Amino acid sequence: MTERVVIAGAGHAAGQAVATLRQKKWPGEIVLVGEEPWLPYQRPPLSKKFLAGELPAERLYVKPPAFYDDASITVKLETRVDGIDRTTKSLRLNDGGALGYDRLILALGARTRRLPPLPGSDLAGLHYLRNVQDVQQIRHGLVEGRNLVIIGAGYIGLEVAAVACRLGLHVTVIEMQDRVMKRVVAPPVSAFYEREHRQHGVNLMLETGIRGFRGHTQVDGVVLTDGSILAADLVVTGIGIVPNTEIAAAAGLEVADGIVVDDRCRTSDELIYAIGDCTMHPNRLIGRSVRLESVQNALEQARTAAANLCGEDARYAEIPWFWSDQYDLKLQIAGLSQGYDRAVLRGDPESRSFSCIYLSGSRILAVDAVNNPKDFLQSKRLIADRTSMNVEKLADAGVELKNLAA
Ligand code: FAD
Repeated sequence: MTERVVIAGAGHAAGQAVATLRQKKWPGEIVLVGEEPWLPYQRPPLSKKFLAGELPAERLYVKPPAFYDDASITVKLETRVDGIDRTTKSLRLNDGGALGYDRLILALGARTRRLPPLPGSDLAGLHYLRNVQDVQQIRHGLVEGRNLVIIGAGYIGLEVAAVACRLGLHVTVIEMQDRVMKRVVAPPVSAFYEREHRQHGVNLMLETGIRGFRGHTQVDGVVLTDGSILAADLVVTGIGIVPNTEIAAAAGLEVADGIVVDDRCRTSDELIYAIGDCTMHPNRLIGRSVRLESVQNALEQARTAAANLCGEDARYAEIPWFWSDQYDLKLQIAGLSQGYDRAVLRGDPESRSFSCIYLSGSRILAVDAVNNPKDFLQSKRLIADRTSMNVEKLADAGVELKNLAA
């Protein structure tokens, strides 16, 4: 009898996992279960071209719809997995049914972090952004001349700001911290993006908190902690995500800010794997365990888990990378900058093409490259090898990064 693998969650990682399982000739049944009404799709365009109305929904799919039939993959959409019974090896579904598995891949992703309960936080016109439905609702409000208030100056908030400015809205971004993208980039990179957004007309309010929302049924204002009120026809909040780990924890799997997996993407139960945003995983190239929120991680973990299920011995060890599109600026990030003790700029931010190199001592940890794909591409190998750099010459953008190893 052939074995059945069930993939719980039907997002980006799941779409890649089923494709790799078939490509590597998984001999048994493949069942994909997801709570959303859509086949696996890519989320990055949701705050970029899809939000701007420049990309049709069909272009979001990870694989074309015909792929699932052609590859004999059973797909159960609008179906939530409510529990895992590891003794009987079955999933409890929200439609009351049960679904047995021989192997299970948890690809549950993450959900948006919510604001604490505040006066007016149930008004219409307040949005979060994680899925296609969220974008469809936000788009209704993206009308020229309207007031948009964005809470949170992370990637998603700033990408939405860039799109809305282009569409002619009056955009305010409120951020509690003293600079934008503080969690991930160094002060000069924040300063560059702050200038860009202000030049495009964004009213950027740093070190600003909110007390609540004003309006009858529909929001018409955001109340700041100093008591002042900002006019708002719609509000988009982007203050981070929370990994979906509850059903794994309830089933007794190890969880620590993510479902804990090893470098083969296996959980503490050898029949169960986990991939993507919901995982906490070791990465020997960066020397610690991390939880990542990126397409690269979702795809690579999916490939690793599927390869192991098909009998290979695949280990996940990739340098994390990420990107963000704001206006005509492409920010590409390689590596993780946490723990850096020096950040060196290469090139002049005024030219709108430069990079920021993060070092620990002389070793390169990470690179932020703005409109500078060359530094981004060359940095990956240097970071993977924890290369010592020629720190004195590093700022000289006339010398290629790869030629600056000490
Ligand atoms: P998801 O894509 O979130 O998929 C998980 C799926 O599981 C969801 O459909 C969820 O509904 C479903 N699910 C959860 N629980 C259950 C359950 N109990 N039963 C059934 N189904 C369940 N990354 C980049 O690298 N670059 C970018 O520029 C970028 N931009 C982004 C912009 C936006 C607006 C967003 C939201 C994300 C962005 N990301 C970006 C992050 C990237 O999209 C995620 O890292 C990626 O989607 C993770 O894939 P995943 O499969 O782990 O999770």
